[in-house]
Amino acid sequence: MTLTRRDFGKIGALSLAARFVPTLDAQASARKTGYAIIGLGRIAGHFMPGVQLTTNSSVTALVSGHPDKAARIAAQYGVPASSIYNYDNFDEIAHNPTVDAVYVALPNSMHAEYTIRAAKAGKHVLCEKPMCTSVADAERMIAACKAANVKLMIAYRCHYEPTNLRAVELIRSGAIGQVQAIESAFGFSIAPGEWRLDKKLAGGGPLYDVGIYCLNACRYLTSEEPENIAAFASVIDKDGRFKEVEENVGWTMRFPSGIVASCNTTYGSNLTGFFRVHGSKGWVQAQPAFNYDGLALAADLNGKMIDEPNPAKDPYQFAPQAEHFSHCIQNNLEPKTPGEEGLRDMRYIAEIYRSAGIAA
Ligand code: NAD
Repeated sequence: MTLTRRDFGKIGALSLAARFVPTLDAQASARKTGYAIIGLGRIAGHFMPGVQLTTNSSVTALVSGHPDKAARIAAQYGVPASSIYNYDNFDEIAHNPTVDAVYVALPNSMHAEYTIRAAKAGKHVLCEKPMCTSVADAERMIAACKAANVKLMIAYRCHYEPTNLRAVELIRSGAIGQVQAIESAFGFSIAPGEWRLDKKLAGGGPLYDVGIYCLNACRYLTSEEPENIAAFASVIDKDGRFKEVEENVGWTMRFPSGIVASCNTTYGSNLTGFFRVHGSKGWVQAQPAFNYDGLALAADLNGKMIDEPNPAKDPYQFAPQAEHFSHCIQNNLEPKTPGEEGLRDMRYIAEIYRSAGIAA
């Protein structure tokens, strides 16, 4: 497909409009979808302000093991004391009509338990990535939500983020020709003592945490599923942090069309997450691609260079994600990133670990 200068202009205008106009649900129902936030840690602190930017969602309950923190946040979001739960009395949420859905923002290995308990309580579930820590748990989560007739969405925020969507749109339009190769990486230097270094809570190392962004991006950028995976892992820093989980993982995926993707993730270096997609007629990259803000897209579209920094500020990504799930709940639609999307990544992570010789 050959695009004219006018086509590029149109694509640019459309995506700019999509990017800077808030993605509001035009038919927001009078009753907002009420969320119970499970785990009041760092990511919940981005999600809740994002919910406040939506037209169709609100924070109506909190679940925390820290009563003081819960009371402080409840005051901020107008949550009544009767809607503050802890991990023991959580199941009573079944009787709270202000809660339609839960947002699971706990350490990775706790996602399965709280998703299943929420489903049994009759609540829809928006679960943070990674979906869980095993393929078996992912399958149990999907089955529990199906049995309870509630929706399950995995919080893959990049599927709702305009710079990532713009890259997808450019690739689909044929603007860089046939995709041949992808490079993607994401990492950070982890502090000692994090639950992320505890295999029982985290499931594994940086692949579960941030490498999953690269894995998932390669899939949404290509719309293909990898058919071959080969991987290596290593620990370089013998400073006590990596007794249970790996420090570095590098993996390569071959997709059915022949596209080859090379990815890296690390807990040993502050590596700004990015992807670069090389096509027969150009390239497109996002760097940063996965941060909460400050994203920037650049491309060579058959000789036409584009450079599009995204000025939107955190929590701009969390609003369309919550808005989408609430819209699905209110209109009985399937979310764009359902449990099955998380399950696929869990299967690829298991395959990467197998190839790298890391025990599950
Ligand atoms: P965090 O440590 O900041 O918060 C975790 C919360 O869980 C805390 O409130 C903590 O009190 C609670 N908790 C309950 N039981 C716990 C236990 N046994 N050990 C430790 N904490 C316990 O973590 P976070 O960075 O907010 O990550 C939470 C989840 O969100 C993870 O699954 C992570 O992968 C995901 N996450 C997603 C994004 C994103 O951009 N989508 C970003 C960061 C984290």
